[in-house]
Amino acid sequence: MVKCINCGIEKEASEYYWNNTKLNGLNSYCKDCANKRSKARYKEHREELIVYSKSRSKLPHVKATRKRYVEKNRERILNYYKEWYIKNREKKLAKNNAYNRNKKLLTNDKDVV
Ligand SMILES: [Zn+2]
Repeated sequence: MVKCINCGIEKEASEYYWNNTKLNGLNSYCKDCANKRSKARYKEHREELIVYSKSRSKLPHVKATRKRYVEKNRERILNYYKEWYIKNREKKLAKNNAYNRNKKLLTNDKDVV
C-alpha cells in the first residue's frame, strides 16, 4: 500500500501511475489526484498548452507517431467519429443550417447593392 501525498489515503500500487524517477517507481499522487491536478492545470493554462501542442504537431517524429497511431487504430477512430456523429447529429445540422442561412443573407445583400 502506498500513501498519496495529496489526499493522504493509502492505496494499492495499481492506483498510481508509473514514475521512473521515484525510488518506488510510482508517482507521489494517486491516479485520482493526478487526474484532478492535470485537469486543473489544463484549465488554467489552456491557451498556452494549445499553442505548445500545435507547435509540436508539425515536428517530423510527432507526425510519424500520429501516422502510425492512425494506421494501427483506423477502425477505432472511424467508430469514434460515427458515434460522435450519431450523438451530435442534431447540433451539427443546426449549426450547418445557421451557417448556410447567414451565407445566403450575405450573398443576397451583395445582390441588392
Ligand atoms: Zn490522492
